Amino acid sequence: MSTLTFLGAAGTVTGSKHLLQVDGLRVLVDCGLFQGLKELRLRNWEPLPLNPGELDAVILTHAHLDHCGYLPRLVASGFRGRIFCTPATKDLCSLVLPDSAHLQEEDAREANRQGYTKHNPARPLYTSADAARALTQLQPVGYNRPVPIGDGAGTPMSVSPTVEFINAGHLLGSAYARVRVADKIVLFGGDLGRYGRPILPDPSPVAEADYLLLESTYGDRLHPLDDDGERLARIVNETAARGGKVIIPSFAIGRVEEVLYWLKRLEEEKRIPVLPVFVDSPMAIAALQFYAARAGELDPEMNSGQRRVTAFATTRLVTVSSPQQSADLIASRQPSIVISSSGMATGGRVLRHLAVALPNPKHTVLFVGFQAAGTRGRLVVDGAKQVKLLGRDVPVAARVEQIDSMSAHADAGEILRWLSGFTRAPRMTFLVHGEPIGLSALASRIGTERQWPVHIAAHGESVELNVL
Ligand SMILES: [Zn+2]
Repeated sequence: MSTLTFLGAAGTVTGSKHLLQVDGLRVLVDCGLFQGLKELRLRNWEPLPLNPGELDAVILTHAHLDHCGYLPRLVASGFRGRIFCTPATKDLCSLVLPDSAHLQEEDAREANRQGYTKHNPARPLYTSADAARALTQLQPVGYNRPVPIGDGAGTPMSVSPTVEFINAGHLLGSAYARVRVADKIVLFGGDLGRYGRPILPDPSPVAEADYLLLESTYGDRLHPLDDDGERLARIVNETAARGGKVIIPSFAIGRVEEVLYWLKRLEEEKRIPVLPVFVDSPMAIAALQFYAARAGELDPEMNSGQRRVTAFATTRLVTVSSPQQSADLIASRQPSIVISSSGMATGGRVLRHLAVALPNPKHTVLFVGFQAAGTRGRLVVDGAKQVKLLGRDVPVAARVEQIDSMSAHADAGEILRWLSGFTRAPRMTFLVHGEPIGLSALASRIGTERQWPVHIAAHGESVELNVL
């Protein structure tokens, strides 16, 4: 009997973990961290309903923390198998997992220092050593090359399930994982990218699957039409005219590249003044180099001659590495653009920029990604007049803007467009990675527009995959 069990990102957008069991083979597809609301974050501390030591393998669709950030904990709990991913996902994991471990360690230290812990002493969810060990288990596999998942023991190689990565256009290295069991296909969609955007290629078309797992982050929404940078230009111009700074909380990998691409383009087209642009995130700076090194996996436009080298370099780009440089930047009153992580203002260096910028109407805080429920970013975007930041209440007087068009997730129209490439209906399409409104909206659209059977996955639910 084959089963699929939803251990995360079911009814929510974080914590992606899907357990596939086929003929005694146990594979976890994605191994993400729960983020956002406290009740979700507490799930990171609950033991998984499986023995990590008995898992045969893990497959990663991409290097965002909500898809890979639980790996060090899995390894610390005894998982010793291989973690299949694309080479670029391996590169990006080498940045995000140690960084996440560092944040976990800092959280535990802070809890002990402040004494706000029931556990004595508070321990991190995982350590830097756990993250380093997880990295040694990563097994890079290039796009479009099926490889056997198990070790083949007891099964002839010809019938061993295989996994193949297909470019999803959502992040450098991002992929759908196509798992083949004999002649049947389970397609794990991961996160789906967008059409006609700079930097990343369009999501690759797929013709068929027997079972499909599909994300629904924007299942109830359409992104605004591409305005060719118009709104970003207006925000930068108006803030510069007030003598303020534009603070852009941004995911360190993926989004920073797109923000820089647009700023550079607007500068070149003389639609914004040439301002100092600070990237205050060591991880973002390292990720930029991976993007530049793997231009062949990006949008074809990024490969053409000059763009390749300079796509991300605005005229007065400054990369901020040391905490001292960061502190100097925060104290400076010079009009500028500051890109810093984390993207939902839940941690990282951007908090210190926000603590200074939020109370001052001269400045603009510009969010460029999805703001999950329960995050500080969501509160600010929803119009909170005051937020708790670095242990104190900070009034919100700055201008707050959000540009959704820079999202790396397909909207409802783009998801349906991708589904239209299928030549037959999957036996079941499981909707994951969405909040309840997005999930039910997408379920009804797929039902009415494609007449496919759809199931919204519930947390902890197990379903039988009859034809495997
Ligand atoms: Zn993602």
